[in-house]
Amino acid sequence: MIEAERRAALEAIAAEVRSCTRCRLHEGRTQAVPGEGHPSTEVVLVGEGPGFNEDRQGRPFVGRAGDLLVRLLASIGWRRDDVFITNIVKCRPPENRDPEPDEVAACAPFLRRQLEVLDPALVVTLGRHSMARFMPGTTISRAHGTVRPADPATGARAALVLAMYHPAAALRTPAVEEASFADAGRITAALEDARARRAATAATAPAGADPAAPREVPAAEAPPAPPPSTVDHAEPEVPASDQLTLFG
Ligand code: SF4
Repeated sequence: MIEAERRAALEAIAAEVRSCTRCRLHEGRTQAVPGEGHPSTEVVLVGEGPGFNEDRQGRPFVGRAGDLLVRLLASIGWRRDDVFITNIVKCRPPENRDPEPDEVAACAPFLRRQLEVLDPALVVTLGRHSMARFMPGTTISRAHGTVRPADPATGARAALVLAMYHPAAALRTPAVEEASFADAGRITAALEDARARRAATAATAPAGADPAAPREVPAAEAPPAPPPSTVDHAEPEVPASDQLTLFG
């Protein structure tokens, strides 16, 4: 899938999200928040659900937690536009309560389809609800900063998952904020590991295997360090202003 196709597919999913009534969360939303970011990124960040500001603006992580997320990314030299940011549930739970299991289940197909389109090398979970989706059977205090392969059933068919605390939790507790910056420092190494893993998989894939999967960068061609954008080198350069925001 070329970048324009990925962009169109993501926009189609976003349009479905904006009119979705699959669960009760649609009743209280101002705007649904499908997610946004670079359609050719290698890295997808998955939070829990929209908060007050996100609900008003229809964009993920735009409040204080978003400011901290930007600082966490900046600590490794990345911008939020280098990645794709979305949530487990796309509509704001009332009073910012935790999403209910049936709400998470109802919304799960949207995230799975986004991941199928983006085919990231690395998924970074933000908070325990997101972590539970990708790393079931553990706790955020144990899992943060750790990496494991993603279950392809999540939609991320050839990815590693790195767990982090939710930035809102980091805002509340200095020790969690400190841990979050340490965990952010592990993102680039995790991405390098993920790239190597995908390259190894591609090298051993039988001839004639699915030509669309995965869209690896061969190790010899991969840049030595992130940021993680535009892995489809066959495509012409697109002006940065066109690349960086899918859903405004
Ligand atoms: S949270 Fe997800 S499933 Fe529920 S109404 Fe919003 S988009 Fe639909």
